[in-house]
Amino acid sequence: MAGRFAPSPTGELHLGNLRTALVAWLAARSTGRDYLVRMEDLDRVTSAAEHEQRQLDDLAALGLDWDGPVLRQSDRFDLYRVEIDRLVDGGFVYHCYCSRREIRAEIEAAASAPHVHLPDGAYPGTCRDLTRADRAEREAAGRRPAIRLRTDGQVVAVEDRVVGRYEGAVDDVVLARADGVPAYNLAVVIDDAAQGVSQVVRGDDLLTSTPRQILLQRLLDLPTPEYLHVPLVHGDEGRRLAKRDGAVTIGELQEEGWAVADVVSVLARSLGLATPGERVTADRLVDRFDPTTMLRDPTRLSDLQR
Ligand code: GLU
Repeated sequence: MAGRFAPSPTGELHLGNLRTALVAWLAARSTGRDYLVRMEDLDRVTSAAEHEQRQLDDLAALGLDWDGPVLRQSDRFDLYRVEIDRLVDGGFVYHCYCSRREIRAEIEAAASAPHVHLPDGAYPGTCRDLTRADRAEREAAGRRPAIRLRTDGQVVAVEDRVVGRYEGAVDDVVLARADGVPAYNLAVVIDDAAQGVSQVVRGDDLLTSTPRQILLQRLLDLPTPEYLHVPLVHGDEGRRLAKRDGAVTIGELQEEGWAVADVVSVLARSLGLATPGERVTADRLVDRFDPTTMLRDPTRLSDLQR
């Protein structure tokens, strides 16, 4: 059984990502689990090998060692395709030919109509009931379909070990894009199961996607792991932390005279796992970690100073 950290190699990890990586490592190590690292590089345009290497170097520098080889989603497209075909055969999905623009227009037009309670921006279902002839017509016009999950807006509950109970309605989420690239929600569910992941730690921006993933696990007969959604770090403007907020990566902080131990120590303090000024290593925190007492106050960049 394992925990994991699953970054997208689209840039350098910043303090918010590193904080999540540390919590994931502590959650795994404190429960005797393996710690896996998976590169979520489905998007071949934004992902790069150099970012991947840099992210791994930063994790290693913080003392967050991982077990086994690093898995890359870009190596697994064939596997995702098999599962998508299973969902097609089971009648759990439909083909959608809408462009983003058409979806936006449709949502605006439907805004005043009474609707089942669905997440903002949820697909309005335009292509749900296309006939064979409708599909043929679109294909003949050169349109390629995305594959969407067919839902009834069913509400799925998540028992999160940090956040508590969260309930969300599942929308007709895309499982494969029109260009054939599998979507995050599908890949993550398949990979977590394939890797024996029984504990998912990630940023709480993904809490709203978790009901979708649990529904997919049920459709594919896969187990549901435990979830720990960690609050994101915000820049001092209040938006989620980003490069523009200043020195936020290990490299940038080192240029400002920080040692790696300073980074671990401020992250630990922000989680309530170290006292101000105390120098700690990741190893020393394993016995202190408890997800139920972990500080989950909103963290600002200004809280992460030496
Ligand atoms: N790759 C996602 C991200 O970097 C995380 C996915 C997950 O942990 O489920 O935001």
